[in-house]
Amino acid sequence: MNCNRCGNIAVFSRKYSGESLCSCCFSDSIVKKTSKTISKYNMIQNGDVVGVAVSGGKDSLSLLHVLKKMSESHNFKLIAITIDEGIPGYRDEALEIVRNFCNNLDVEYRSYAYKDLFDLTLEESLELRENEKISSCSICGILRRRAIDFGAKDLDVDIIATGHNLDDVLQTFIINVLSGDTNKIGWMESATSTNKMRKIKPFCEIYENEIVFYAFTNEIPFQSEECPHMNEGIRTEIREFLNSLENHHSGIKNSMYGSVMKLIQIVKDANYKQRRVCQKCGNQCTGEICSVCTMLVNLKQDRS
Ligand code: SF4
Ligand code: ZN
Repeated sequence: MNCNRCGNIAVFSRKYSGESLCSCCFSDSIVKKTSKTISKYNMIQNGDVVGVAVSGGKDSLSLLHVLKKMSESHNFKLIAITIDEGIPGYRDEALEIVRNFCNNLDVEYRSYAYKDLFDLTLEESLELRENEKISSCSICGILRRRAIDFGAKDLDVDIIATGHNLDDVLQTFIINVLSGDTNKIGWMESATSTNKMRKIKPFCEIYENEIVFYAFTNEIPFQSEECPHMNEGIRTEIREFLNSLENHHSGIKNSMYGSVMKLIQIVKDANYKQRRVCQKCGNQCTGEICSVCTMLVNLKQDRS
């Protein structure tokens, strides 16, 4: 089959649109789509310093690759930020991949460790947790958000960009619905601004399988080994469920994404009046103390 755009040999079929694309036109389509999302949500402004949260996985390295291409013709600067959770045997390989990738792209790179910031590695936090129902990823996610905020302030960046793709957005939405935590849906925007720090998800309108193919066809050396905690939560089951729906009904993830965006706005507006500021850290939250500060205080109490 030939590429619908240039006639070369096609290597990717975009089932939901019926397009067949060669490697070059496919990569070009990902860069253009990302650029469209960035403009639509006004994600990056002239002169911004963009901190890209890079884990060493396919999404974040592909995002850095795409943003680097864009930065060559636009006025913004990139810094890669990596968080070292302290997961034995897993994160070291990723840090090495990120370091080499950033050197090749000529992007500045900084790493921050949970141990330095919280005096706890992820593994130590997991040992201290009293409530076994709190998943490793919930604890890790809370600590990571705080660590990234710290890195962003330390490096004085204007925005944090993360590699969340369309599948991640849908999975997170379903997790929030299933856990009964509807308030969290209001915090799921693709471009948010809390305490002046903007957070953006430039891949939020791109399917996960397309990011995988982008990384593959651009020979991006992402970490293939999964985190040992990866399958502890419900996310993997939801991912498989959504993939199976998409296989039988192509485009269904795109239409669900449209609905999710509308619902996020509705919940956000409903939440707006309840928004307060955490007494400990000053971040926005819906109670007296935010979830990050509550969790850190509990973990440290358990240790002493
Ligand atoms: Fe952390 Fe979970 Fe990701 Fe592992 S899979 S790095 S525990 S969020
Ligand atoms: Zn082509």
